[in-house]
Parts: sequence; structure tokens; C-alpha cells
Amino acid sequence: MTGPVARINLEALRHNLYRVRELAPGRPVVVAIKANAYGHGLVESAQVLVDADAYGVARVEEGLQLRRAGISKTIMVLEGFSSQAELMLCQGRGFELVIHDTSQITQLENYCSTARPHHMTKDVSPFVVWIKIDTGMHRIGIPPEESREAIAKLRQLPNVKLVGILTHMANADDRNSDYTQQQLQKFEPCIDPDLQVSIANSACLLNLPKSRVGWVRPGIMLYGASPFKDTTAADEGLQAVMTLRTHLIAVHELKKGDAVGYGGAWRCPQDMKIGVAAIGYGDGYPRHAPNGTPVLVDGKRAALAGRVSMDMITIDLRNISQARVGSSVVLWGEGLPVEEVATAAGTISYELLCRLTARVKFRYEGKEQ
Ligand SMILES: *Cc1c(COP(=O)(O)O)cnc(C)c1O
Repeated sequence: MTGPVARINLEALRHNLYRVRELAPGRPVVVAIKANAYGHGLVESAQVLVDADAYGVARVEEGLQLRRAGISKTIMVLEGFSSQAELMLCQGRGFELVIHDTSQITQLENYCSTARPHHMTKDVSPFVVWIKIDTGMHRIGIPPEESREAIAKLRQLPNVKLVGILTHMANADDRNSDYTQQQLQKFEPCIDPDLQVSIANSACLLNLPKSRVGWVRPGIMLYGASPFKDTTAADEGLQAVMTLRTHLIAVHELKKGDAVGYGGAWRCPQDMKIGVAAIGYGDGYPRHAPNGTPVLVDGKRAALAGRVSMDMITIDLRNISQARVGSSVVLWGEGLPVEEVATAAGTISYELLCRLTARVKFRYEGKEQ
């Protein structure tokens, strides 16, 4: 037996895209496959999500990786380019670049005026761009009051084709916040009848019907996790895509008071069995997951007992009498929602999914359509 394996259920990935289609019928979908498709495999996920209208990546390099794999669908680069050199790499690649800062407009201007005569011919394809408006996230985006000027500038550039306007919601995962409404109100006057529009991430798609206009941009829901604290993926009609599994490599009978692991962070409250599973923070399992974080041993719920090590975790086996060396241990996925593990570990499913290390083996299942 090997170490940890992440089984990727491609059927579930396809199902979750259908769910997006169901929620936003007729709307074009750009599937967020940045960060290695939230840890699920960039190219593998792209190949399964062929029904999407475009792929969304954060960085130019991620887009180039898709092109190197022979994938030709439109790619939206959500952070756009950040240097002249990077812009040059985007030429003729079929990217749609998000412009979120006036410095990018300056770079486009420079590129068009200086670089063009040297190495562009007349029929060279223009840079297709979207403009991103900061309606309250205060991370990236052009302020709403500057949007008109920025749009006008982009429209003047000879080698640039502005096709759309987008914004991103800061609090859409909090159903009780009215901040999303405020952001929508700020966005409305920026919308231009000649531009496509895009607002909705997963939380908007699931919870805010009026954000389902133009292009929708689902990420986390495709991978079968709920963006909300109060619902599970199943509640949202989603199926877990990744199941992270390993096995027990040792089982010990310990005595009441025995300390387990680094720092003795767990002391056995009674005579009991402790299992050792082959996974640790060196695989991307969160080191800060505390005692009590749920795992499944042979399909039954058990709990972490003691600190997470680099290569191993220790598990309270008091409820799992049949557990023995070789028993299956599920860290999250089918039967154990990643959201629940994330909450226990004080983080979000996004982080757990996208930070598995290269030591974890990936198995793709359900490849045939
Ligand atoms: C990552 C990303 C998304 C997807 O967000 P989810 O919360 O995973 O649905 C949408 N839009 C932008 C701009 C993003 O960067």
C-alpha cells in the first residue's frame, strides 16, 4: 500500500457543472480552475469541464499551462498581466485579460504604441480585455467613479478589444450581510450596454438570483463544497469531487494517562486504542487541526488525538473496535464533508483542497463520458 491518495470523482465534477447550468440557465459559465483547479488537477479538470464556456485562471502562467496541454477554449485571466513581458506572452493565445488597475492600461498603451510597429502585423489579433470594478472588496479593481474614464481609455487603444465588465463580492457567503446589495448598487451605474457583465461566484450563484446575469464564475461549488457555513454540499445539490484517503500503519493499546505525539497534546483519558495513519502536514493535511477533528476509519467517524506530524496523524479508536493496520482512513470527501474538517481546523474548504502536496497520489475516476 502507498501513502495518501486523492480520488477525484470526475462524474461528480460534471454533475456540479450541471447544477450551475440549472441555477443559471442559458448563462455563459467561466469555470474557476485556478490554483490547479482548487487542487484537483488543472488539465484533468479542464478536460472534464469541456461544457464550460471558458476557463478562469488567476495568472497568465496558468493559462499558458492549459495551452501547452493543447486546450484551446477561451481562458479568462482573472488577475490579467502584470508586466510588459507577460503581456507579450499573452499575444495571440486566446486569453481574455482582466484589467483591474490603471497601470495595466498604461502598459497596454505602451505596448500598442512602441511594440506594435516592430513585431506585429496588421491582422494580429487584439488583446481581448474585461474591466474589473472594485465595488467594495478593496482588493483589486478600478474604483466605480473612475470606471467611465478607464473604459473610454481602453476603447481608444487600437490593439485592445474591451468586451466586458465584472466585479467580485466580498461577503456573498454570509447570507445575513447586506454588503452584497451595497456592492450591486455600486456596480449598476458602471454597467455599459455594450459590454458583457459578470458578477456571480459560487456563493452568489447559489444564494443571490439577481447576480446570475451575464457570465457566471463558479469555483468552489464545482468541486462539491458549499461556500456557506450553514449548509452542506448535499443541501446545495452538489457532490464531493475529492476524497482524500490513507490507511492505518499502526494500532496501539495505550494506558490511561499516556501522552500521544509531539508535545503530548493528547493524554489518553482511559485505556484505549490509538491508530496511526499515513498522512501529515507534509501531504497538506492541516497541522493546526486540533484534537477532535473528524476522520473516517473503516467508514466510521473517529477523531484526531494528538498533534498532526509531518507524515502521520494519530486517531482515537475508542469507537472503532475493528480497526487494524491497513484500515482505510478518509480525511475528507465522500462521507465526510471537507467543509466540516475545515471548520474543525479553523480554515475553509478552499484552503484544504488546494494545498495538497506533490506527495499525494491522484486517481481520476469516471473519465469516460
Ligand atoms: C476564484 C474566483 C471565483 C470563484 O469563486 P468561488 O468562491 O470559488 O466560487 C470567481 N471570481 C473570481 C474573480 C475569482 O478569483
